[in-house]
Amino acid sequence: MTEPELLRVEGLNVHFPVREGVLNRVVGEVRTVDDVSFSLRHGETLGLVGESGAGKTTIGRAILRAIEPTDGKVLFHIDGEVVDITKLSSRQLRQFRPNLQLIFQDPYSSLNPRMTVRSIIAEPLIASGLAKTMDVEARVQEVAALCKLSVEHLSRYPHAFSGGQRQRIGIARALVASPKFVVADESVSALDVSIQAEILNLLKDLQDQLDLAILFIAHDLSVVAYIADRVAVLYLGQIVELASTKELFSAPRHPYTAALLAAIPETDPDIETRPVTLEGEIPSHGNVPAGCRFHTRCVYAVDRCRSEEPEYREISPDHWVRCHLTEELSDELRR
Ligand code: SF4
Repeated sequence: MTEPELLRVEGLNVHFPVREGVLNRVVGEVRTVDDVSFSLRHGETLGLVGESGAGKTTIGRAILRAIEPTDGKVLFHIDGEVVDITKLSSRQLRQFRPNLQLIFQDPYSSLNPRMTVRSIIAEPLIASGLAKTMDVEARVQEVAALCKLSVEHLSRYPHAFSGGQRQRIGIARALVASPKFVVADESVSALDVSIQAEILNLLKDLQDQLDLAILFIAHDLSVVAYIADRVAVLYLGQIVELASTKELFSAPRHPYTAALLAAIPETDPDIETRPVTLEGEIPSHGNVPAGCRFHTRCVYAVDRCRSEEPEYREISPDHWVRCHLTEELSDELRR
């Protein structure tokens, strides 16, 4: 049975003005996130992939209001109501914050070296005021155990731990307030491959136990293939394809997705990789190409791609693509 929807992002924009001169006049804008829409169900993992600079981290932070969105809605279903996170006042947001948490990118720099593990994990309970209504020590021990940390670990400082253990502390901190939604931003990229697997398995276990929805941001597609139920591919601030992980990896329908997949090294010598290549740099968010923003790097681009922006459309149930030639390229892009 399909789980009900937890979070819906509609038309999310994060634009920054470009100012110049002594009068500090606005002369342009940097469109870091442009018209992004997607949804997440209870207990689901949505992978958000793309090259660095595509806007992945900004989307995660805009949903959490760590960066203020310029426009759009972030609708959260809770207790039979729908709350638009973008409309909450600072005080309301502080109260709402326990529902939304972030697992930081770097387990080495994200933990305060002067705080014990116990204080680090308890921090969100104190910041949100939840500490006043619960036994903090019992909750910290409970969530530490879920993240495979012992009671003895709680009195130590972060420097006493390995990268994998530190990331487990970061996960415990993110989960202590019982959130329903977590943004995991490149949460395993700084770790060795064997430790990555350990942390990914822990996240999967915790998700099953806690019915957690995760927006899993990563540039490594093989990691995303392992953990995500569905994947959104981001290019220059826009989602260009979104589909179930199985469908997206076996039958990509956007040339950019196909190029990203072709770049994954094939370990089986009998499997022929597709000749789709990705050349050149991602353009600047301050100078987005006209028409399809991928046209400057797309080997299939035609005249129409240079002048007309493709519509983001659902080509089959829950498979969304932003390309003029989706139907024509269907066989060509298939893996
Ligand atoms: Fe390539 Fe044109 Fe499709 Fe853009 S719209 S991805 S340029 S074929």
